[in-house]
Amino acid sequence: MAPKNYRRVVAKFGTNLLTAGSDRLDLRTIATLVGQVARLRRDGVEVVVVTSGAIAAGRHILDRPVESSAIVRRQVYASVGQGMLMRSYSDLFAWHDVIVAQALLTRRDLSDRSAYLNARSTLASLLGLGIVPVVNENDVVAVDEIAEAVIGDNDSLSALVANLIEADLLAILTDSGGLFASDPRTDPATRVIETVTRIEEAAALVQSRRVSRSGTGGMATKIEAARLATASGTDVVIAGGHENEVLLRASRGESVGTFFPSSVSRIEGRKRFLLSGLSARGEIVVDDGASGALLSQGKSLLPAGVREVKGPFQRGDTVIIANGAGRRIGYGITNYDEKDVRAILGRRSTEIESVLGYDYGAEVVHRNNLVLLEGGGV
Ligand code: GLU
Repeated sequence: MAPKNYRRVVAKFGTNLLTAGSDRLDLRTIATLVGQVARLRRDGVEVVVVTSGAIAAGRHILDRPVESSAIVRRQVYASVGQGMLMRSYSDLFAWHDVIVAQALLTRRDLSDRSAYLNARSTLASLLGLGIVPVVNENDVVAVDEIAEAVIGDNDSLSALVANLIEADLLAILTDSGGLFASDPRTDPATRVIETVTRIEEAAALVQSRRVSRSGTGGMATKIEAARLATASGTDVVIAGGHENEVLLRASRGESVGTFFPSSVSRIEGRKRFLLSGLSARGEIVVDDGASGALLSQGKSLLPAGVREVKGPFQRGDTVIIANGAGRRIGYGITNYDEKDVRAILGRRSTEIESVLGYDYGAEVVHRNNLVLLEGGGV
């Protein structure tokens, strides 16, 4: 693969990697991974860590039986272990003078448009401050995540986070390396597949193999994560986390583990994700100036260009954008709810805060959250 220098990376560390096969967090392994992330930060690469290991840590810390259902037991473990997990990261990153921030997310949060936008701006601000966000699923509330189901795990969370921050690389680091051509348990001579361009083939290959022990994932969920991330414009690497400098090498675009090149541009992929399966709630009618600026100059929609609002819609909803003649010219995710847009329409962006008393940004719809209909729509 052609050498690339990735600038925004999501690094996902699985339970079996972080425990190095033991029944507790393996600080030596975590220190090695943390050292690589710190090095990337120094080189100007923005990194978000998605980490598992809370349940394993909690199970190890608790010295008494937990008499409840398997799901509640795992939630108790996660809740006990998350603090220890986080402390390990903050102590180890402190050696490198790197500040970390905890972000606990659920997939439900990320499917709620307004929570999605809030999580996105928080993570973007943290990265802008040189902080490394350390993300885990909020296991205490996310039942489906830690039930024994194969779907729902930190692998898919990492793909959602990659989409959320528009990462250019998602590195899923495991204890077992990349995707092997045949099952390494039965075929010791097997080789890692270097590049996968057709996810379907990879998915078929792993269908009958499940190798995970304490993590919820396994290769099948990693392939699903790769499918999601590559479809939203992020390249994916699945590689062995114990390999020497694996994260640094992957971020320089060197060949490690299995590489899944993304098939679409980041912006297009993200837009498609944002708008997929969503029905528009309301409509914003824009004036001719704004219509021209959106369609031919790639601009965002500002309150000054809005003429009329048809609700109801909330911040984060998808709205139709129409021109004065009633033609749909696109769809976008609105930063303000119906009432707010009505209050600020026709105004300058600098007036938003004084009119509303708060401010979610200068744009009613940012151009990154806007899909224009070809040829100006119908
Ligand atoms: N969020 C879980 C934990 O921290 C792990 C989920 C997974 O293994 O994918 O323990």
